[in-house]
Amino acid sequence: MIKLSKIGKKYKEGDSEKWVLKDISLILPSKGLVAIQGESGSGKSTLLNLISMMEKPDEGVIKINGRNVEKLSEKEKEDFRFFECGFIFQHFNLFEDVTAKDNIVHSLLMGGVDSKTAKDKANTLLKEYKLEHLANKKTSVLSGGEKQRIAILRTIIRSPRIILADEPTGALDEKNEKAIMKMLKEYSKENLVVFVSHNERIIKKYSDRILKIRNGGISDDSKILRKADPEPMAKRKRGNSSRWIIDVTRGHFKKDIKRNALSFAGTLISFFGILISLGFYSSSKDTIEKEKKKSLLYTSASVSLVQEEEIEGSPLTLNRTRRPIFGDLERALDGLARIECDYSYFIPSYSAYTFNGEKKDPVSFAPISDITLKDRHRSMLLEGDPPRRDSLEFVLVNKEFADLFSESVLNHKIEISNSVKVLRNNIEDSLDFSFEFYIGGVVDEFSFLNSPRVYYSLNAIKANLSSLKLENISKAEGSNVDALSLVEECAGDSPYGSYAYSIFFSEDNAPAIERLMHELDKGDTGLKITSQSFDVIQSFSTLVDAFTACLVPFLILALVSSFAITCFTSYSSYLSKRKEFAIMHALGARSEDVSNINLLENVGVSILSGISALALAFPLSRLFSIMLDKRVHIANLVTLKINAFNVPFFPILVILIFSLVFPLFGSAIPQFVFRKQSLVKELSDE
Ligand code: ADP
Ligand code: MG
Repeated sequence: MIKLSKIGKKYKEGDSEKWVLKDISLILPSKGLVAIQGESGSGKSTLLNLISMMEKPDEGVIKINGRNVEKLSEKEKEDFRFFECGFIFQHFNLFEDVTAKDNIVHSLLMGGVDSKTAKDKANTLLKEYKLEHLANKKTSVLSGGEKQRIAILRTIIRSPRIILADEPTGALDEKNEKAIMKMLKEYSKENLVVFVSHNERIIKKYSDRILKIRNGGISDDSKILRKADPEPMAKRKRGNSSRWIIDVTRGHFKKDIKRNALSFAGTLISFFGILISLGFYSSSKDTIEKEKKKSLLYTSASVSLVQEEEIEGSPLTLNRTRRPIFGDLERALDGLARIECDYSYFIPSYSAYTFNGEKKDPVSFAPISDITLKDRHRSMLLEGDPPRRDSLEFVLVNKEFADLFSESVLNHKIEISNSVKVLRNNIEDSLDFSFEFYIGGVVDEFSFLNSPRVYYSLNAIKANLSSLKLENISKAEGSNVDALSLVEECAGDSPYGSYAYSIFFSEDNAPAIERLMHELDKGDTGLKITSQSFDVIQSFSTLVDAFTACLVPFLILALVSSFAITCFTSYSSYLSKRKEFAIMHALGARSEDVSNINLLENVGVSILSGISALALAFPLSRLFSIMLDKRVHIANLVTLKINAFNVPFFPILVILIFSLVFPLFGSAIPQFVFRKQSLVKELSDE
């Protein structure tokens, strides 16, 4: 039972307002076929939209079964359209991409009816109306008359007590017109059917009651009902409509395959970029941490004393480097490292040598305190065996040295010889010495900026130097002076002591030494720790930091473009489906379900891109790392790990968040843009 009291509806027309309906009062019965007659543009459709609660009146009250429509919630209005009031349109408004039967089935599914019941009911109804032959035809190939029959079945399958039909035969020939009107007439025996037409002939032939709309008012009501017969609106509950949402989304996915593929590809590339950057961010730090220990020089350094000295008559100062006083150094190191003299005056740190008797260009020679590689250094060994004991017979070389030769360098002989002159208390002495080493092993070091290097035993060289007697000086001083004691006893500013002490420490103490190095740099003791390996790590870290900073704009670009792609596809997908959404709305679908259909499609594409990006990024980042390792000899530079930054499943979480947040925002944009435009406009039959 529908009662309209003094209803008015106006629309904006340019700057002014136009009242389409004004002061309309009428009561519609609960049964019968009521015709609304009027010229085009007289407001017939508007009246139906008010009754179906698709639009709100600007004046007056509509009561349906005793309840004021204005007081109903949006959900109650949707329920009203789903359970109580069916719509039939001039141009049918079926979902064209599915079969005729699916249109009928979906009409139930959107209210949460389970799919088996819905299918059974649809089959029964199709049989009853002798339309089984249309069941599995795609809707777009049906004739107008067939479409309208299906549209009527889509409505009556829900047994609504009201049907609103807006020019239901307007697009049909006479034969079909007759069939459709018969269907509606039949239905109106137990229910109310309100139909709009400007066709006088059919109005006269079928209707029980005629309402004529003219100039915004009802000009003629053939049987005015004075009293309403109240009938409470039945409370019916909807079921779960998620099945319908998924079904429709699946259909959209197929229909929009090209747009979705484009969106998929764009998002995939962006996500892939994000993951590779993530791989670089997380693994480059780990790589530095790991790689910096991969050097036999990591646990040695040299310490000197740098003092500022003023130059007489000049504003400039001079930095003079000396060997520190042993006691000062001992105190500063506080037991963290072993202090040794620097013997490089006798064993040059950079020297030419002969390999298998052939003269070669200079390479670096460095003493190490443990040539036997007892501790974890052994894992760095690529080939060969480290010497069993401290010995001057064997040396180790790094890979960069081994790479100078085409054949394996193991067990080949290196010779260096030198002749030095020394002077003490005006007594001159000279020493000729030569060493013969066999290469015992090749170590794999962090190769960044690394140069070919030969490692020999510090202890063995000390023993050797102590056997090299300085004849003249010994004779003059009346005691045995050898090369070793010359270095150890020399003054701080003597080149024999290289102006520095060497220090050797354990790997555990390396971080403490590094801290001390920075502290001493800032302090005023003048002590300065120099470490080749710390320096290399420092420059490598700086380079990585610079590279990381360069990546940030690209990362932002990837994020922005992925977001833009999602927004764009979501917007264009919404636009192309607005009519479909309007039909759903008229059929009483929940507005949140309709929003979810739009969202689900976007989330689906986004998640699919995310999963594919993850599936690609893990193996490809590994491949990338291997390629980089081959080129720059740094392993695991871009390895994406499942627990990057020590957070379990970090890359998966990041991609999951983006692939949910982007479509969530993207889908909200069209809803926001169109929030003020009524969907009803989409359904107007022009
Ligand atoms: P008809 O009797 O042909 O169904 P309608 O109810 O569709 O007429 O429209 C009545 C008048 O209201 C028309 O002049 C139409 O242009 C106007 N109108 C309908 N809907 C809107 C709207 N959403 N915005 C502005 N004007 C509208
Ligand atoms: Mg109309």
